[in-house]
Amino acid sequence: MSDHIITLNAGSSSIKFALFATDGGEWPRQIAIGQIEGIGVSPEFEAKVAAGGKTKRALTGAETPKSHDDALKIIIGWLSETFPDAKIAAIGHRVVHGGPIYSAPMLIDDASYKVLAGFSALAPLHQPHNLAGIAAAGRAFPGIPQVGCFDTAFHRTQPFVNDTYGLPPEHYEEGVRRYGFHGLSYEYITSRLQERDPAALRRLVVLHLGNGASMCAIKDAKGQASTMGFSPLDGLLMGTRCGQIDPGVLLYLMQQKAMSAAAISDLLNKKSGLKGMSGVSSDMRDLEASAAPSAKQALEYFVNRIRRELGSLMAVTGGADALVFTGGIGSNSTFVREHVLAGMEWAGIVFDSAANQARAEVISAPGSAVKVYVMQTDEEAMIARHTIRVAKLAEAPALATA
Ligand code: AMP
Repeated sequence: MSDHIITLNAGSSSIKFALFATDGGEWPRQIAIGQIEGIGVSPEFEAKVAAGGKTKRALTGAETPKSHDDALKIIIGWLSETFPDAKIAAIGHRVVHGGPIYSAPMLIDDASYKVLAGFSALAPLHQPHNLAGIAAAGRAFPGIPQVGCFDTAFHRTQPFVNDTYGLPPEHYEEGVRRYGFHGLSYEYITSRLQERDPAALRRLVVLHLGNGASMCAIKDAKGQASTMGFSPLDGLLMGTRCGQIDPGVLLYLMQQKAMSAAAISDLLNKKSGLKGMSGVSSDMRDLEASAAPSAKQALEYFVNRIRRELGSLMAVTGGADALVFTGGIGSNSTFVREHVLAGMEWAGIVFDSAANQARAEVISAPGSAVKVYVMQTDEEAMIARHTIRVAKLAEAPALATA
């Protein structure tokens, strides 16, 4: 019987999970995926079995999870009922921040857990919840290896000019850097391209467009520059995040409007983006269907920001051999892809509108110097693959310094 891997992605009020079988292939096989959302509010359990159906139910009464530990117990209970023969060999965690030092996945022990806890100040909205997930899994599976996979790791190869801000060096030294995020998605896409079109990895721009959105310039399969920086707020317009903003606006809000740090954080993270600009929704499908002028404006801003960043990132890679659209919007929205790529012939991109409408995997015309792919990302598969490798190398965790 094969071993099994659980992947966990713990958020403020949710735990997403997946179960993989390790059959010895290059990629582990996903056999179930699901989540508990609304911990502490109105919790719901949802899961999908690869070879079966979906299940969804509200968690009420004695079942109501009050903490990540409670939620994890429910997940483990469901997994052991549904897959009684599964033997859990390791647990892989999505960890948002590996700080300036971790550029590869690693085994988590007491010492590294403390180091990761020290990065909470860098990502206060995510890191403490990721750590709560690790602690809960440690209690539920004592002695089973736990592997941390960092969303920042892929970007640690970016050169200093794309890693820093124009501040005095002491700020860089204390950790005020352009970390970049969505690294597990970029790593998954580059790994898949390595299998099917390795030439595309020479000069590549990946557009991860989802509720969170970023773009990454990649040269010879290594991250060179990201639209996200110190935090996941920078760069593109997102579901509820503002993206690029002049720091002068923040000074104005603080000095002239007496807004607190908490109020500004709420504005920039939760009340801006597609939702804040349109006043309609954070969901691209709603905006595409809406007749409201504000929805049209938000879409135009979203697309315009992507086009500007595309030019900027192609300047980093010196032109591109390929682009990849991924994420919920990137892999599904024919509308966004069409508007991002129209009139980009100056950059060597010849768009094939019919292929886009047909939802083909390649949406550039045959003669296009830049090949444009549409691909589904799979961060859980990336975590599971890392976890298998790192857990087998328990005596030599892949600790790397940038
Ligand atoms: P993600 O965060 O990658 O899961 O992406 C979630 C977002 O993808 C949703 O909020 C939607 O805006 C978007 N999305 C999903 N399906 C579609 C679709 N068929 N057309 C346009 N946008 C979509």
